[in-house]
Amino acid sequence: MSNVTVLASHAPIVSVRDLEKTFTLKRRAGAPARSLRAVRAVSFDIAKGETLGLVGESGSGKSTTGRMLVGLIPATAGRIKLFGEELTGKPPRGTVKRMRERVQFVFQDPHGSLDPRMRVGDAIAEPMDIAGGYSRADRQRRIQELLDTVGLPRSCGERFPHEFSGGQRQRIGIARALALKPQFIVCDEPVSALDVSLQAQVVNLLQDLQEAFGLSYLFIAHDLAVVRNISHRVAVMYAGAIVEIAPRDELYGSPQHPYTQALLDAVPRPDPFRRTSSAVRGELPSLLSPPSGCMFHNRCPHATERCRQESPALRPVSLTRQVACHLVGGDAAANKR
Ligand code: SF4
Repeated sequence: MSNVTVLASHAPIVSVRDLEKTFTLKRRAGAPARSLRAVRAVSFDIAKGETLGLVGESGSGKSTTGRMLVGLIPATAGRIKLFGEELTGKPPRGTVKRMRERVQFVFQDPHGSLDPRMRVGDAIAEPMDIAGGYSRADRQRRIQELLDTVGLPRSCGERFPHEFSGGQRQRIGIARALALKPQFIVCDEPVSALDVSLQAQVVNLLQDLQEAFGLSYLFIAHDLAVVRNISHRVAVMYAGAIVEIAPRDELYGSPQHPYTQALLDAVPRPDPFRRTSSAVRGELPSLLSPPSGCMFHNRCPHATERCRQESPALRPVSLTRQVACHLVGGDAAANKR
């Protein structure tokens, strides 16, 4: 167990501790299987009505973390508590059923997640059909209510997914996620396939829904500008681990971890005289044969010998922020070794 004190906002409804995911990759006959540690000791809380943004490059473990939270893939180790109920191990069937209703997932590609042969109304109602207990009239009423909620005409229920634009399909995906009145939604890159103007509309819709229904979100994205708009706090993931977590304005105003600094440096700004780097230099380390020490050391401009030897723990550097870097916090002097 790590000794990280997770900086929670008020009473958390989502509580994740030391979450791990290791995939076993099969090789050709005779060769030993290999392990890929995709998520490493991830811990965080999310409060009611709060959005935690989860950012990082692709391959950083963001989506794997989100999928473990909603039970789409099992965790290898660690604990997930939702609404005070333990979900890791073998939770009772009643707990699993309750969680299926209270926790939902919005996919990056709404087209891929909607059955092209299913009318939109039926796709939206599918979670209700699986849960059971809805009369025909209730089901129909709820479909219309959900279409109203996401700003689509009620006539859309009779049409098929391919008849809609990307933005409209994402609204359909959100309506479907809302069908069972969840309290927590994992949004996995929900706007990354959309144009900028449509991105803003979907983000506004998610914010309106949060206000109306007190929803909590884990909002996964690689686009820092989008995450800034919607998040109350932001966690930055690198090579499977959280390297910095802080309230949004603190993180964007004064990023502490060199990776967060590099990510923010690469965000285009409307200042023609300000130079930005086009991306974080170098490549993510291989998770099949991870380097010793800090996973970021091969790309970090401040790396020292200590960084190559010793992995920095994620630890509090203020009341509201945690950072995993030898340079930041109490023992920065030791980094000069
Ligand atoms: Fe860079 Fe070292 Fe900090 Fe890692 S621990 S981010 S290599 S300074």
